[in-house]
Amino acid sequence: MSELRLREDLNAIPGYTPGKAAPQAETVAPVFKVSSNENPYPPLPSVTAAIADRLAHINRYPETAATALTAVLCERFGVEPVNVVLGSGSVEVVSQLMRATAGEGDEILFAWRSFEAYPMLARAAGAVPVMVPLTDDHRHDLDAMRAAITDRTRLILVCNPNNPTGTTIGDAELDRFLAQVPPHIVVVIDEAYVQFNDRDDSPVGIEYFRRYPNVAVAHTFSKAYGLAGMRIGYAIAPEQLGIALRKVAIPFGVTDLAQTAAIASLAAEDELEARVAELVLERERVVAAFTAAGLALPESKGNFVWLPLGQATSAAAELLERHGLLVRPFPGEGLRATVAEPEANERLIALAPRIAALVAPAEAVLASR
Ligand SMILES: *Cc1c(COP(=O)(O)O)cnc(C)c1O
Repeated sequence: MSELRLREDLNAIPGYTPGKAAPQAETVAPVFKVSSNENPYPPLPSVTAAIADRLAHINRYPETAATALTAVLCERFGVEPVNVVLGSGSVEVVSQLMRATAGEGDEILFAWRSFEAYPMLARAAGAVPVMVPLTDDHRHDLDAMRAAITDRTRLILVCNPNNPTGTTIGDAELDRFLAQVPPHIVVVIDEAYVQFNDRDDSPVGIEYFRRYPNVAVAHTFSKAYGLAGMRIGYAIAPEQLGIALRKVAIPFGVTDLAQTAAIASLAAEDELEARVAELVLERERVVAAFTAAGLALPESKGNFVWLPLGQATSAAAELLERHGLLVRPFPGEGLRATVAEPEANERLIALAPRIAALVAPAEAVLASR
């Protein structure tokens, strides 16, 4: 059989590892999939009812302009329709941003470790991912990122809060950074977890979009809104960029059901915010348990926690899996666990002392400093 002629640069892309699927219910009961930062709450009845109402129309293509949803978002953010660009999840929006700004050999700059999709999508766009290590305390190193800007830099991604570490950027810090980025380079603030970020001095992406002509914001309905399965997210982007993003978007990539679910969710925001508040309380409970067990976690402002376990990561992931918690391990670095339903969080809390004990004593002391 002859080899197929494929793009050779694809060899540089590691395959995406999806969050482990939950095994069949009867295998081990109950197993919690806390590997993908999904919202543990079931969809709101008002949302499922709105979707059910639209089912009779799925023989038609969705409306590409998404007029109704776009109008709601324009009203909310005080922007024009051209500034709102939807995607099949904000991961598609990030992909649009990359393909609209960077081509062969251009550089896309972001912190690392950060969202796993960034390097893959950058490579798929033919661009070169430039990954700037996080600081020792798991935060964006904005000075190093600024220093890494070159003539080839086309796009900078700032993930706030950062997936998977949960760390955040302060207002003053971001402002200083943006003031130093050449104005022809697009900067995207990926705010997938913005609703969980209760940091007092948190920058609000949309305000930076208003102040800097090169700033765009990426939002998703997958996390706080609990619509991960519907695949819908959006960018708020400057006009020139908005026009370009539409050119690289997947035609009809956002279904009518997804648009409907998003509108219904925006209308039910009070209910959703109450859920977010519960998850934030749960997050603090988990963090407190690990701190008490002697493992200091970076301050998380997402719906997940990062356990910096270094060499003990795989052993901890196995221990957790044996107890029915499927987490996202990054061997040698740490693991990410979603703050989920109380029962799952309870199990994680119960295992905190055993997990902390897996870390070599010297490492535990370092981590707790
Ligand atoms: C989950 C996530 C997204 C968006 O996911 P979609 O489901 O594609 O909307 C974007 N950025 C980060 C950092 C995420 O963690």
